[in-house]
Amino acid sequence: MSEIEQGGCACGAVRYTLKPGYRLKPYACHCSDCQKRTGTAFSHHMLVMRADLELTGELDRGRMTQPSGAISTISGCPQCKSRIMAENSTRAGTASLRVGTLDRAGRFPPAAHLWVKSKQPWLVLPDEVPQLDEQPRAQEDWIELLGIK
Ligand SMILES: [Zn+2]
Ligand SMILES: [Zn+2]
Repeated sequence: MSEIEQGGCACGAVRYTLKPGYRLKPYACHCSDCQKRTGTAFSHHMLVMRADLELTGELDRGRMTQPSGAISTISGCPQCKSRIMAENSTRAGTASLRVGTLDRAGRFPPAAHLWVKSKQPWLVLPDEVPQLDEQPRAQEDWIELLGIK
């Protein structure tokens, strides 16, 4: 998990290097907001340190206020509209990377499925991966679920 990874948008205008560093394991979120924002069944994120992400190319930014009141700033490619990452106002210094933008995304399957209560009914999840009806609330619960030991 601590190797250098490369990634970028669909058209190649935005590229990034993810340096080795502190990361949580990837997770899939099946909440209705993520379904709406991605236009598909779930989002697939990995929490990394913002300083470990070196981006090249111009970024397009959007903002959204989450139900909790936190402001999410979403960055993507202005040309092809691929979304690369989101930064949350309550988690300074971290970024939620869109796993599908990694060149080796297949190495990062979700280690947990969150908000399974609003999962699309046709989607079948693997039994061996933890499934939560909602999401962890406390910081230590996130780390317990997705921390790399
Ligand atoms: Zn692009
Ligand atoms: Zn979600």
